[in-house]
Amino acid sequence: MNTQNSNRRCGFVAVIGAPNAGKSTLINRMVGSKVTIVSPKVQTTRALVRGIAQHENSQIIFIDTPGIFQPKKRLEKAIVSAAWEGQADADVIMLVVDASRGPIDRETLSIIKKLEKQDNKDKPVLLVLNKIDKIEPQKLLSLSQALNERLSFTATYMISALKGDGTKNLLNAFAAYLPEGPWMYPEDQASDMPMILLAAEITREKLFHRLQQELPYALTVETEDWENFEDGSIKISQVIYVARPGHKAIILGKGGSMIKAVGEAARIELENMLGVRVHLKLFVKLREKWTDDPERYSLWGLDYNA
Ligand code: GDP
Ligand code: MG
Repeated sequence: MNTQNSNRRCGFVAVIGAPNAGKSTLINRMVGSKVTIVSPKVQTTRALVRGIAQHENSQIIFIDTPGIFQPKKRLEKAIVSAAWEGQADADVIMLVVDASRGPIDRETLSIIKKLEKQDNKDKPVLLVLNKIDKIEPQKLLSLSQALNERLSFTATYMISALKGDGTKNLLNAFAAYLPEGPWMYPEDQASDMPMILLAAEITREKLFHRLQQELPYALTVETEDWENFEDGSIKISQVIYVARPGHKAIILGKGGSMIKAVGEAARIELENMLGVRVHLKLFVKLREKWTDDPERYSLWGLDYNA
C-alpha cells in the first residue's frame, strides 16, 4: 500500500444557496487565489467544479450550483436541473444563507423544501450562516433556530466568508465528513472548469444579481477573446447576447451605468480568483431565439430536454 495515500480523503461538497448568499466568496476563500485549468484523473460528476481546496490530508472539491430557483423557461429548467444533479452526486451538501437578510428568504425556503423531499439520510447537510460580520448575535441565534426547525441540519456553522471568520472550522468539518480515498485531482490544482467558461459564468452571475428575476435567463455570456500579457495581466472580451432588442437598453442601463457596474463586479471577482490584473471588456449583442438553440446548451453541459 502506498503510505502517502493512506488516510487521504477526497470528495465533493455541493454549495447551494440563494443568489448573493456569498457562495463564490466562500469558495474563493477556501480554495485560495490560484486557479488553473486541469482535467480530473477520473470523470466523476457532470457538475461544474468551481474550486478545489487542499486541507491537511483532504482534497475538497466544491461544486458551485449555478443558481437554484423556480424554473419557468426551457433554459431555466436546464440550469436548475444541472444544479440539482450536481448536489445529488455530492458527499456533503452545504446550504449558504445570508444571515444579514433577516428572516428566511423565499429562495432559501424553496431550496429547503426541495432538500426535505430528497433522501439525504446518509449525507451530511450543513447549514452555513454567512455574513455574521453584519448581524447582531441575538438575531443570528433566532435565524439558526428557525432554519433548524424547518430542516434538521447535521450541523450549523456561523461564518464570515468575507473576513474569514469560521472558515477554517468549516474546512475541518468537510475534511471529517469526506470519505477516505485517493485524491481525484493532482495536488495544487484549484479548478477544472475551463477558464473561459468560468469567466463568462461570473459575468452572467453579476448580471443576474443586478437585473430583474425574469430577464437574466434570457441572456447568455460568451468569452470571445482572452489575451495574456507579459506583465501577467489578462484582457478578457465578452459578449452578452440578449434575445430581445429591448433587453439591450436594460443591460446597458442609464448612460451605461448598469453594464459598468456589472463589469466592475465581474472584474474584481476575476482578479481575486486569478491573482492578476484583469481588463474586462463587455459588449451587448442581439441574438434572437438563442434559447432554442440546442448547441448553446451542450456548450454548457446542460440538457436541452431537461
Ligand atoms: P453568491 O451569489 O452566493 O456567489 O454571492 P457572492 O459570493 O457573489 O457574494 C455576494 C455579495 O455578498 C458580494 O458583494 C460579497 O462581497 C458579499 N459577501 C459575501 N460574503 C460576505 C460576508 O461574510 N460578509 C459581508 N459583509 N459580505 C459578504
Ligand atoms: Mg456566485
